Amino acid sequence: MKKNIGSMHATRDILAAEGFRIKKHLGQNFLVDLNFLDKIVAAAGITSATDVIEIGPGLGALTEKLLAKARRVLAYEIDAELLPILRENLPDRERFVLLHKDILDADIDHDIETHLPGANEVIVVANLPYYITTPILMRFLETSHRIQKIVIMVQAEVAQRIASKPDSKDYNALSVVINYRARTRILFGVPRTVFVPKPNVDSAVVELLVGDPPFGKPKDEPGFFALVHHCFAQRRKTLMNNLRQAYPAWSRAEIENLLTECQLNLDVRAEALDIPAFVRLADAVGRKA
Ligand code: SAM
Repeated sequence: MKKNIGSMHATRDILAAEGFRIKKHLGQNFLVDLNFLDKIVAAAGITSATDVIEIGPGLGALTEKLLAKARRVLAYEIDAELLPILRENLPDRERFVLLHKDILDADIDHDIETHLPGANEVIVVANLPYYITTPILMRFLETSHRIQKIVIMVQAEVAQRIASKPDSKDYNALSVVINYRARTRILFGVPRTVFVPKPNVDSAVVELLVGDPPFGKPKDEPGFFALVHHCFAQRRKTLMNNLRQAYPAWSRAEIENLLTECQLNLDVRAEALDIPAFVRLADAVGRKA
């Protein structure tokens, strides 16, 4: 096994030796600071009972550290060129499952059943490809019921949005889905200088503790998620107009009644609603549909 695959020198050596050309369009910014790699792994609170899902292992720097602590690591990597490098750097075949797959096509809970049999505690730890941060989070939060915690590196600005509350300018569909399923916290910032190649933005590591919401759940959870997306479809429009677009068969008066039933003003915008208000609205839409 190569030593210290996360260091700046080792990363450059691997890239040169393998003749690997970094693919910017896949969000490939490799973390090359061993202290930050250790900090992420420590923050994730991994024990020998923890199974870890990693998105985009890249050259395997974070993966190697995860494997040193975790029971098993299941990693999704889209770039076929990285697979032989990963297999060479991480020979621990039994505890490391590498899937050549686009994370956005993955059936996560099915993959956990298949590749991590007997898993109890499953957490996600990743340095995300930034071009798909939102769809990745949506996928985990809307479709998986096996994940207990997510510790991810994202753009600093996106970290703010992840942790934002209703009625702030950053509040959007992702904030609603996140606040419905998780409690969030920004753990620490990461400067752009510790990546190869250096990105144009600084980063931050955020923690999402996933679990049932502290208030009532909607009757139909997939219907709730669909409604949230409809409500924010056009941010500048009122909730009324977004609902009219989403449900063209309903008259204006019917949608007005729906809003009144949920004690919402007719000119309210989606960003003014807290999570219980979205749950009430989703249940009312479900009763009517
Ligand atoms: N984990 C490595 C590190 O920390 O240095 C690499 C992180 S790099 C920011 C993002 C990784 O995600 C790359 O390896 C990239 O090829 C991979 N990736 C990009 N899009 C993906 C997708 N849709 N599904 C799975 N992996 C993807």
